Amino acid sequence: MLPKNIESQLIGSFIYCYLGCSEDKHVRWAASSGGAVTSILMFMLKEKMIDGALVVKMEGLKPRPFIARSPEDLIIAMGSKYLPVSITSNLRELLEYEGRYAVVGLPCHIRFLKKVLAGSKGLQERIVLLLGLFCCRVISPPGFKVLLRKLNIREDDVKDFKFRGCGWPGKLHVNLINGRSVSMPFFSYWRPLYSPYFFTPRMCAFCSDMANEEADISFGDAWLPEIMKKDSLGSSIIISRTSRAEKILQEAQRKGFIRLAKIGGEKVIEAQWRPLFFKKITLPMRVMLTRNESYRSTLNPLGLLLSSICAFLQIVNMRFSESHLGAHVIEKLPIKLLIFYATLHAILEYLSWRQVMR
Ligand SMILES: Cc1cc2nc3c(=O)[nH]c(=O)nc-3n(C[C@H](O)[C@H](O)[C@H](O)COP(=O)(O)OP(=O)(O)OC[C@H]3O[C@@H](n4cnc5c(N)ncnc54)[C@H](O)[C@@H]3O)c2cc1C
Repeated sequence: MLPKNIESQLIGSFIYCYLGCSEDKHVRWAASSGGAVTSILMFMLKEKMIDGALVVKMEGLKPRPFIARSPEDLIIAMGSKYLPVSITSNLRELLEYEGRYAVVGLPCHIRFLKKVLAGSKGLQERIVLLLGLFCCRVISPPGFKVLLRKLNIREDDVKDFKFRGCGWPGKLHVNLINGRSVSMPFFSYWRPLYSPYFFTPRMCAFCSDMANEEADISFGDAWLPEIMKKDSLGSSIIISRTSRAEKILQEAQRKGFIRLAKIGGEKVIEAQWRPLFFKKITLPMRVMLTRNESYRSTLNPLGLLLSSICAFLQIVNMRFSESHLGAHVIEKLPIKLLIFYATLHAILEYLSWRQVMR
């Protein structure tokens, strides 16, 4: 078991960690992981704790934040949009309306919002819950275009697009204007194109928050071997960080919206070792390698060496895929070769992670 202070350095401070999911099988099936975000918002709407929630839906190929005011709106907004989204203008919109709201956001959204809330007592009373998604990174727009081209999809032909859904880990699903549809398992596109950090925006490369440490509740996938073996509907990791959040979770469970089972912080870390390695271990090395800042390490020499190699590869992959030539080469490489490279890359990161955590 990891000491409490190491846990909180990696995933932030918390009251409890849970494995959980929606009690509604349809929500669980259509959501990204366990559908807990959607079901908690449905519970809050039904109990009139909120008048709406700031969420994100896809409009064609563009993610669009909006204020959901009904369960139907929340269903439309289900699922992760792995693209850059700005919520600033919607916050202005929230300020104009009466009522109380919840906000779903990435760590960068929640951090920004906490700063805004700190300066406004009025807003603090109106934004009653911050639901934070875990986040390793978004995909840059050029990286999204490479995915579409790999799938032989022309942007103008797309009617609607989903990164995930249809069980867990789920599938990408695209409906085309001509009535055709394309789908692909989540890992079949994510692993070769994005897991080696190709197409990672610079802002994500220098962010250190994976578990949405400033949210009231944080949500992520339960990438645990025992869950991955048997769960095809979906489960989420849920972290409650404030007493208000903990109360809402318990009430939502009591009223039959969600299901919760307590787990230790070390389980969250086990499930999320790879994004944590990126955000917490190799971040200072990326800073050192790219900004030439001095770096005082407490890591053992082998851990330091392996992590530096990983950080170097992360930078090379990001920069290479940023260039026109790089994106073109990745697009043209056979998927099997990309999967082979992505697997080697993951193994190297796993060995480095084990070494630095010794
Ligand atoms: C960019 C991104 C990166 C992520 N990285 C990780 C990761 O590394 N590890 C991990 O375990 N989990 C990650 N997640 C979280 C994971 O994909 C699920 O969103 C989370 O487990 C909640 O699942 P759910 O089934 O409860 O959500 P759902 O019930 O499907 O609801 C998801 C909610 O999030 C909102 N939403 C979707 N995309 C965005 C967005 N870009 N910005 C703001 N709100 C949004 C939707 O509108 C919806 O309300 C990431 C999510 C995103 C969007």
